[in-house]
Amino acid sequence: MSCSLFALKCSATPQNLLTLGPIYQQVEDYVEEQRHCQHCHMFLPLKGHHQIGLRTLFGKLTLESPRVYTCSCQPQQKRSWSPVATLFCERSTPELLCQEVRWASLLSYGLTIKLLGDLLPMDHQLSTSTVSRHVHQIAERLEGELGDEQSSFIEGCPGQ
Ligand SMILES: [Zn+2]
Repeated sequence: MSCSLFALKCSATPQNLLTLGPIYQQVEDYVEEQRHCQHCHMFLPLKGHHQIGLRTLFGKLTLESPRVYTCSCQPQQKRSWSPVATLFCERSTPELLCQEVRWASLLSYGLTIKLLGDLLPMDHQLSTSTVSRHVHQIAERLEGELGDEQSSFIEGCPGQ
């Protein structure tokens, strides 16, 4: 149940951007998958339904975000959860986050928004505070991953 399902990576090229295509279908398939308990495979009922906005390179999508009951076969902290909201916890696709962070490392947040707005058909609402928040979230995530690498490096070299 974490964002790491969609690790930040920069795989967007002009060719595959055109064929990213049916994101709704991918999300629907993902929800179907999450409606089966990973342990006992029981089909889990829905608790409710809401919608979330998702910023993409091509504008803003509205996604159905059902709330699914957790299975009682395992001890759980929550009785229900929202797979789609958890998957896109930053409410942006990894491709968009990648472009935001890449350009914000070279330009001011204001120029980053202007550049992305000029290059992409983004009809949405990126603000400097949104870009700033994303840069900090990504930096923290990367730092967390680096922390793990450092400790394994140290553990791997006991003689040093
Ligand atoms: Zn179960």
